[in-house]
Amino acid sequence: MNSQAGMETPLTQYIKGNGASLGLKEYEAIGGYTALKKVLQSMTPAELQQLVMDSKLKGRGGAGFSTGTKWSLVPMGPEAPKRKYLIANADEMEPGTFKDRLLLEGNPHQLIEGMILAAYAIQADISYIFLRWAYRSAAVLLKKCLEEAYAAGYLGQHIAGSDYKLELYLHTGVGRYICGEETALLNALEGKRATPRAKPPFPQISGLFGKPTIVNNVETLSCIPHIVNNGATWFRNLSSSEDSGTKIYGVSGKVRNPGAWELPMGTTIRELLEEHAGGMLPGYQLKGILPGGASTDFLTGDHLDIKMDFAAVAAAGSRLGTGTMIVMDDKTCPVGMVHNLQHFFAQESCGWCTPCREGIPWVEKILWSIEQGAGRKEDLELLDMHTKFLGPGNTFCALAPGAMEPLQSALKYFRPEFEKHIEQKKCPYANHTH
Ligand code: NAD
Repeated sequence: MNSQAGMETPLTQYIKGNGASLGLKEYEAIGGYTALKKVLQSMTPAELQQLVMDSKLKGRGGAGFSTGTKWSLVPMGPEAPKRKYLIANADEMEPGTFKDRLLLEGNPHQLIEGMILAAYAIQADISYIFLRWAYRSAAVLLKKCLEEAYAAGYLGQHIAGSDYKLELYLHTGVGRYICGEETALLNALEGKRATPRAKPPFPQISGLFGKPTIVNNVETLSCIPHIVNNGATWFRNLSSSEDSGTKIYGVSGKVRNPGAWELPMGTTIRELLEEHAGGMLPGYQLKGILPGGASTDFLTGDHLDIKMDFAAVAAAGSRLGTGTMIVMDDKTCPVGMVHNLQHFFAQESCGWCTPCREGIPWVEKILWSIEQGAGRKEDLELLDMHTKFLGPGNTFCALAPGAMEPLQSALKYFRPEFEKHIEQKKCPYANHTH
């Protein structure tokens, strides 16, 4: 994680790195919890919602839904249910994605403050951090920071001397990808099998235990104190594109300097790869890019000047997703790589709907047979067919459609490689990746 001179990096500038976390005193010394005091003393929930709406903050979990709009859908009048929930989705399990981990380990109080503000905006009185099982260091740090926040009067009754009260609990998941899907997360929190629910109703109306619930990503929530302190215009101006704010981007793969950097939203793929990730390692050429984790479509070297924001990546045929890109090099077999991804998705399918439960393992088998030199020409048509049958609208949640994204784009951009495997009855790459 690094910051660039002259560039504003509100989310990460005080993160020390190496997993060292900011404690309460350090966080307060850099202005921590001033946003909370300001809001509780001088802003109504509706004013805070409007501020976030004006900031044009879009959800950083991957889908990019407007945060202000999401909050505004929670029923707020006297008729509305008294009990409401705010949940931080910290179940970061998208392959190649490690941005929330930096925030969770580096500055947990920033997330906690963002959560209290979000909870106040929707008048929730109970909140949870749903944490990925594998993030054990984060769990220890969060537990300590929650104790500090309670002791300092930022959580519990009469927060910062006001009438507002909030309980915040840490809940650790059991390590399933589907738990990051917001409605499966709600079922998991209720102690049920973690399967997605049909939407609508959206959780904003009927969420945890049937009550209005907001589920926001860690990076999204971490933006809130800064928007309160500096204003909506400041936040919009941090960006170099239509989408506002900064974004924590990441690059992994055969690059010189893999990592994560907070940069203006809309930074180009070229800048990320060449300046921040230091270009490809000697002896490797860029072949493909998954721009936002494993469940996004491949882009190629022809897309380097695309801005990494929601609209520009979508216009190029992929999705910004989590903004943490996986680089595929010329020595990695695309068939092997896509097989590897489908193996992950097949394993992580919750089994709730038939296309996903049956379809992804079938796709995985077909890819494996192609990779092993036993593929048939008609297998490519079968794969094409699956990308449609498992696409949007045919399943309860985005898992299977997401799984099809790297496959459909690999068939588009790397089809000759698939054909070569079938013709030569072997993988043409010396070192398979599976
Ligand atoms: P989605 O587009 O269905 O919903 C995104 C958010 O917007 C949800 O909170 C949803 O409640 C809300 N929303 C969407 N449409 C709405 C409407 N009409 N009315 C009210 N609220 C609405 O996407 P999703 O299935 O929640 O998430 C898919 C995304 O998750 C993908 O973009 C993928 O990249 C990402 N993802 C991230 C991780 C990770 O580790 N961060 C893991 C897997 C997937």
